[in-house]
Amino acid sequence: MQFNSNFNDISENYLFAEVAKRAAEYSKAHPDKKIIKLGIGDVTLPLVPEVIKALHEGAEDMSKAETFKGYGPYEGYEFLRESIQGYYKSYGVELALDEIFVSDGAKSDLGNILDIFSKDNTVLVPDPVYPVYVDTNLMAGRKIIFANANGENGFLPMPDYTVNADIIYICSPNNPTGAAYTKAQLREWVDYALKKNAVILYDAAYECFIEDGKLARSVFQIEGAESCAIEFCSFSKIAGFTGTRCGYTVVPKALEKDGFSANKMWLRRQATKFNGVPYIVQKGAAAVFTEQGRKEIAHNLSYYKNNAKIIAECMDELGIWYTGGKNSPYIWLKCPKGMKSWEFFDFLLNNAQVVGTPGAGFGNNGEGYFRLTAFGSEANTREAVARIKSILKK
Ligand code: PLP
Repeated sequence: MQFNSNFNDISENYLFAEVAKRAAEYSKAHPDKKIIKLGIGDVTLPLVPEVIKALHEGAEDMSKAETFKGYGPYEGYEFLRESIQGYYKSYGVELALDEIFVSDGAKSDLGNILDIFSKDNTVLVPDPVYPVYVDTNLMAGRKIIFANANGENGFLPMPDYTVNADIIYICSPNNPTGAAYTKAQLREWVDYALKKNAVILYDAAYECFIEDGKLARSVFQIEGAESCAIEFCSFSKIAGFTGTRCGYTVVPKALEKDGFSANKMWLRRQATKFNGVPYIVQKGAAAVFTEQGRKEIAHNLSYYKNNAKIIAECMDELGIWYTGGKNSPYIWLKCPKGMKSWEFFDFLLNNAQVVGTPGAGFGNNGEGYFRLTAFGSEANTREAVARIKSILKK
């Protein structure tokens, strides 16, 4: 027996562990000080009443022989796929029901999708990046190249035709930078992918934060994307499902090459390795897109959007450069006074008792940057901002 030696190439999962360790050490040494955490990417508001009602109904259904459900369809119940189809239609994207696959979240599918692609593909990921794209490919031994996201391009790298890539990751609005592509910019990436015979793996986990009509909600708003892209999305951020677990992946039937159909391969993959998302959870997820559900989630989303605005306004006032804050729950700022990411982390922790995430943990280009998130409570966000202003205005 031999273990998969590619695991040697994956770095220790050190970022959030180190953040937690430093915060815990500070707390121990200063038990009287209250730390405010604006580092997490997890939601804090509870599930909305419409979802809770549907979860209860789902549980009731499981209690009666006439409505009890055993194994469900691999691709998800039709009632949920229909509501996802309706959601896409609401912003102009037509999907066939059998192009929608329900899963237990975007993270699983982002990793699992690689089963349908050859190990020999070259992978293009932006730097800085959500680490899942890099680590899942390293585990499989794929070659990874990086597209530089930086201050000059507003953390939105554009295609470079001298670079040959087969699998391209795009996350918009981006984690960690909060930057989001316009439809015109995404058009360029779709053109590049079509020209290079590449596939775009489009992570739309944060599309629900988009308000500006020039920005893309879905890669499928771009004509031609249906033959070169797969989209991953999630109920985690739109409806607080981080602990409930439900997401979906759109694999268009037009994505074909050399006699292979991505859609057929993905169904085959799921049928082999996945037995579906719990019926009760799918009932809850479908409630997100009812009229009442949409009203209720809009309320929660505007709560987070307002927190983002509070942080962004603080950066404006301090004259600190940042991306995100609008159309995103993340604010990605340039560390003031030329500080490095971890230096600024310690500075904020020691002087303002505010915890964020050092940008250097997301890739080389993240050095000198810092991520704050809008997922805390409004009171804590306001308090954190007041403290940041008081130490940086001096
Ligand atoms: N994609 C991005 C960019 C994320 O930041 C996250 C979670 O933070 C996910 C995917 C994971 O989503 P899910 O909870 O659906 O697995």
